[in-house]
Amino acid sequence: MTFSIDKDYLTKLTQELVQINSTNPSLSPENKGEAEIGAYVAEKLKELDLEVTTSEIAPDRVNTVGVLKGSGGGKSLLLNAHLDTVGVEGMTINPFGGDLRNGRVYGRGAQDMKGSLAAMIAAVKAILDAGITLRGDLLITAVADEEHSSIGTEALVNEFKANAAIVTEPTDMHLCRAHRGFIWFEVETIGRAAHGSRYKEGIDANMRMGRFLAELEKLGQELLQREPHELAGPPSLHAAMIQGGTEISKYAAHCKLTIERRTVPGETVESATAELQGIIDRLEAQDSTFKAMVKATFWREPFEVKSDAEIVQIMDKNLDERLGYHPEHIGATFWTDAALISDAGAETVLLGPKGYGLHSAEEWVEMESVIDLAHVLAETAIKYCG
Ligand SMILES: [Zn+2]
Repeated sequence: MTFSIDKDYLTKLTQELVQINSTNPSLSPENKGEAEIGAYVAEKLKELDLEVTTSEIAPDRVNTVGVLKGSGGGKSLLLNAHLDTVGVEGMTINPFGGDLRNGRVYGRGAQDMKGSLAAMIAAVKAILDAGITLRGDLLITAVADEEHSSIGTEALVNEFKANAAIVTEPTDMHLCRAHRGFIWFEVETIGRAAHGSRYKEGIDANMRMGRFLAELEKLGQELLQREPHELAGPPSLHAAMIQGGTEISKYAAHCKLTIERRTVPGETVESATAELQGIIDRLEAQDSTFKAMVKATFWREPFEVKSDAEIVQIMDKNLDERLGYHPEHIGATFWTDAALISDAGAETVLLGPKGYGLHSAEEWVEMESVIDLAHVLAETAIKYCG
């Protein structure tokens, strides 16, 4: 079956998406949110006769989903992009210009990830223009808040399910099959408050945290020495924030430390908590006045899909045909919404366009790779949905 990507449509769509401010208000209150861009995307999906749902997850925060219903009997595929962008402070170009120069579209979110969203929509259009009927459903999902706490994809996976998913975060057209997760921990050492002169009564919680930190640093070094995950690298941690004591002439009764632990596929909240508890247990065994507690306060799971998964095999082949070389399989050290979609039961991969300047002063996306992406997405939908 042959189809072609409408390049003018795709380029114009990328530019218009960049021209709509959708900075994430959870990052900074003056930022605008996704309501306007969500409505724009809904309109574009309606023009293609998709079944469109716009859900408001919080004030000015929306998900827009368009479903191309299959004729029945095929597998469903979900394409995912976030609508929000980071802020525009310090940018040296017009963040909402959407200018096209030398085959690049410039502006905040051009690569992360409005070019991708445009490619998803252009892929559906190509399928429809060619008169191709899919058996399985194809879902175009544009979500809020990936750049902060992913309330968009969290809500999305409760409502929409699919057999496989492609998250189109920028990967420079490599196929990303794994990334790390993270856990936020709070560790508290407990001392005993006393006037600074009363050395027999006071127990210094800050000094005890010092002991814990010395051991934590050793654990941090040990993590980096472990056999790294083949794609996502080694696990790591850092002691992010610390606070202890209330005034200078007083023994500190409490000291609180927050730790961010980055996890690799295979690690769990339980296993990472046990490592920290192990340090506390050892320190307690050395000194009966040492008291501390650890708790995990928030976490996001790592993500991995195997190389023999059907969606990976199909995309490998399509990328090979489109780009003329076998795509590199990569991992990422950071977390993405792919983990939430994968946990909800969809075989998930990440593939996105080439560009420059994520979260920085100048951002652009290379339109040729956006066109390649649209092509590969359409081809994959045709093969996977049947
Ligand atoms: Zn992104």
